[in-house]
Amino acid sequence: MERARAVTPGGVNSPVRAFHAVGGTPRFIAHAQGARLTDVDGLEYVDLVGSWGPMLLGHAHPEVVAAATAAVGRGTSYGTPTRTEVELAEEIVGRTPVERVRLVSSGTEATMSAVRLARGFTGRELVVKFAGCYHGHLDALLASAGSGLATFGIPGTPGVPEAATAATIVLPYNDRAAVEKVFTERGDEIACLVTEASPGNMGVVPPEPGFNGFLAETCRRHGALFLSDEVMTGFRVSRSGQWGLDGAVEGWAPDLMTFGKVMGGGFPAAAFGGRADVMSVLSPDGPVYQAGTLSGNPVATAAGLATLRLADDSVYARLDEVSSAISGAAHEALTAAGVPHLVQHDSSMFSVFFTGRDEVVDFDGASEQDVPAYAAFFHSMLDQGVHLPPSAFECWFVSAAHTDADVQQVVDALPAAAEAAA
Ligand code: PLP
Repeated sequence: MERARAVTPGGVNSPVRAFHAVGGTPRFIAHAQGARLTDVDGLEYVDLVGSWGPMLLGHAHPEVVAAATAAVGRGTSYGTPTRTEVELAEEIVGRTPVERVRLVSSGTEATMSAVRLARGFTGRELVVKFAGCYHGHLDALLASAGSGLATFGIPGTPGVPEAATAATIVLPYNDRAAVEKVFTERGDEIACLVTEASPGNMGVVPPEPGFNGFLAETCRRHGALFLSDEVMTGFRVSRSGQWGLDGAVEGWAPDLMTFGKVMGGGFPAAAFGGRADVMSVLSPDGPVYQAGTLSGNPVATAAGLATLRLADDSVYARLDEVSSAISGAAHEALTAAGVPHLVQHDSSMFSVFFTGRDEVVDFDGASEQDVPAYAAFFHSMLDQGVHLPPSAFECWFVSAAHTDADVQQVVDALPAAAEAAA
């Protein structure tokens, strides 16, 4: 870590990896297999971070490794179309309501491009987002974002010009009245409303029943686009993401969607997509510019395609089992130790709020947590070989590779960790 700090700010290449909120030093990982990480000192951890979402099938899944390795052997980037990127796009279009999809390299790039496209398509500038929702580190959406900004307790960041967020309106999550009000007052200036399809970046704060459908309908009435960010939920909470749990059942579709994490199989791949008429204004067919040297990279798309093809019903069933077992045991242990807490779920995504509240529906609620208690809990789990997210504001990610023995190790570690937090 000393060597890392000497050459890299904070010693990390993404701030959420630092242990700033919990104290101590991040583990340097040498290799990983299934649900287990092994650090450079040879210590093993059951992983509940999963690279912050991508590792749906666990680490080094043999078929994903084989697909990526074979792709590397064929050359790592060509800068001209490939069959694999078309097949990955077909897989995404087949599982979601998007009609056209453009591949990029990160979730940030996906939402940045989707917001530009929404502005270009509508000829409007305003963007509406929710406090606590994180969409990547693009300037326009770094206002009251969750994730690392929540961990570090900052509303935004220096370096973002006022003009970049002047056209961003931030509302409380799950607040229909606030949405109605802003659309009534400024509906004809709004290019898009962007939301995490089910927020996981302030802890897990699911949409109240019907909330996403209400957002879609409100946007439609005002000629704004509904941009559903499924970078975290996509291909994780169901094979069709959060849309598979609400839109597909209720009969509506977002105008634009973004994906990342799982669809790259652990490599840098992400995507934005949507209605054919909206996507048709994107370059080269239309005037809205967007590009990328490594977009649709053959190795990343091979790993992503293998991952999505392997993610069948049995994978989602296992994710649910693992998630229920671990979250249930966390609830029992914290209850027994008398630690105020609240477990919230969206399918297999869950987080544990260290709070006395009965429910958390927005960022204000999510922010009121006993962070020192979480830090004590986190370190006890780490000492017992369980790697949780080093922040109270993050989702715990499980994989289909978590075995019963992995789950049991987590369950066995929980009582002592809960005592440490008491
Ligand atoms: N959108 C959501 C919902 C996310 O959770 C994230 C990352 O955590 C992003 C966008 C940004 O993705 P990336 O970190 O790949 O830029």
